[in-house]
Amino acid sequence: MDCVFCKIASGEIPSRKAYEDSKVLAFYDLDPQAPVHILLIPKEHISSCKEVTEENSYLVAHIFQVAAKLAAELGLENGFRIVANTGEDGGQTVPHLHFHLLGGRSMKWPPG
Ligand code: AMP
Ligand code: ZN
Repeated sequence: MDCVFCKIASGEIPSRKAYEDSKVLAFYDLDPQAPVHILLIPKEHISSCKEVTEENSYLVAHIFQVAAKLAAELGLENGFRIVANTGEDGGQTVPHLHFHLLGGRSMKWPPG
């Protein structure tokens, strides 16, 4: 499948890794929007939040545990933001489920 994040998960495309295990990869975003900007993905291809199911949602739970661990390790004790852009209106540009972990600055609300 011609999916850039599947290729990052398999190592075919290089990335700056922040965490990896058998199910999940976390790597630094190429175009950081905050001092800390990491993407967390399931290694298994899931297209977006719209495709989260009873069967695969354990991967989402696991990703949130990894995000909490990374945030603590990276000193984001003052807070952080996790974002999952979904579909066209959500601004999703890569059709492989991913969670942005953003931190190191104060975030605005509402987002644009
Ligand atoms: P989204 O717009 O929510 O789909 O997020 C996709 C993110 O992937 C963007 O923040 C991009 O900067 C990032 N991105 C795209 N290709 C790569 C890559 N090869 N390595 C790291 N980050 C990437
Ligand atoms: Zn994929």
